[in-house]
Amino acid sequence: MIKFLDLKAINERQRAELDAAAKRVLDSGWYLLGQEDAAFEREFAAYCGVKHAIACANGLDALKLVIQAYGFGPGDEIIAPANTYIASLIAISANGATPVLVEPRLDTYLIDPQRIEAAITPRTKAIMVVHLYGRTCDMAAIAAIARQHGLKVIEDCAQSHGAYCGETRCGALGDAAGFSFYPGKNLGCLGDGGAMTTNDDALAEKLRALRNYGSDVKYHFPYRGTNSRLDEIQAAYLRVKLPLLDADNARRVEIAARYCREIANPRITLPEAPTGKKDNVYHVFPVRTANRDAFQSYLTEKGVQTVIHYPIPPHRQPAYTEWHGLSLPITEEIHDTIISLPISPVMTDDEVAAVIAAVNAYEDRTPDTSL
Ligand SMILES: *Cc1c(COP(=O)(O)O)cnc(C)c1O
Repeated sequence: MIKFLDLKAINERQRAELDAAAKRVLDSGWYLLGQEDAAFEREFAAYCGVKHAIACANGLDALKLVIQAYGFGPGDEIIAPANTYIASLIAISANGATPVLVEPRLDTYLIDPQRIEAAITPRTKAIMVVHLYGRTCDMAAIAAIARQHGLKVIEDCAQSHGAYCGETRCGALGDAAGFSFYPGKNLGCLGDGGAMTTNDDALAEKLRALRNYGSDVKYHFPYRGTNSRLDEIQAAYLRVKLPLLDADNARRVEIAARYCREIANPRITLPEAPTGKKDNVYHVFPVRTANRDAFQSYLTEKGVQTVIHYPIPPHRQPAYTEWHGLSLPITEEIHDTIISLPISPVMTDDEVAAVIAAVNAYEDRTPDTSL
């Protein structure tokens, strides 16, 4: 069986360093917001090319706290892509603000800048861009719209660690950003973790307080914050894994390039091949096909594990009944047909070849009922 993502194998590569990092924390006797956290924040900020990184407990909290720090709440609207993972939208709703869904482009799966202006109202406060599947959004177009309308740009970088737009890495492309270090992300903890990045000194100071009950100095609380701290042990693990991120992303790009070169099946729509611009770190490799369930069963039979990102769009989820009347045909088309092939830094060339052979040999045997 070719695994979709072999996390154990990914972390096994650095077993000795991870064990040493855990031992370092145990030996220190300091478990939260200590030296490991401070060092990781410095190292991650430098990696992203941004002034401040503030670690927190997970990616959802990172986005939630950024929105809270800006003071966006009831009556405020934040524009977001309709095909994102639900966490981007929960982060907005949890603050009492309203997500306004905008369709993505079918060729990039990213928010369509040409559809953003029509969604802006006097209540709009920000645009949340999501660099979905590892590819950065069209930031030049989005920044121009934001500037013209006085909106903040908040990046959801949960799937795009290390990806560039032009000369700038994600996390430094907007006013503030949220990252997730969920184990399966391109940079992952051995548990939960997250971070916020920004070049804004005042915002950074507020985020630093908000993640720790809103405290600036011990037992003094200028804000009603929350408990969203990163464990020292996870910070120590992240410091071991961060130096491998660029090489891991490069291997993902190599596999994506080969999939794009060698998969040739009229039933399968591929994503754009790597361009050399480093604007895609292929968190997943999404393809589209008409009879997705048949394709998935076929690949399972062939020993190729796949995952669907995501089967049901946010506006069709029971959690958001107020959106059930919306018609978002591009989003619906994506959710009905998309499926992710295995891609990861530990996949071997033979495994990549086996996935290509299986996909190329796929014939849709489902009877055509369209007549
Ligand atoms: C994973 C993810 C999140 C949330 O991250 P957690 O660490 O699981 O809270 C947010 N947005 C997107 C696009 C994600 O993929």
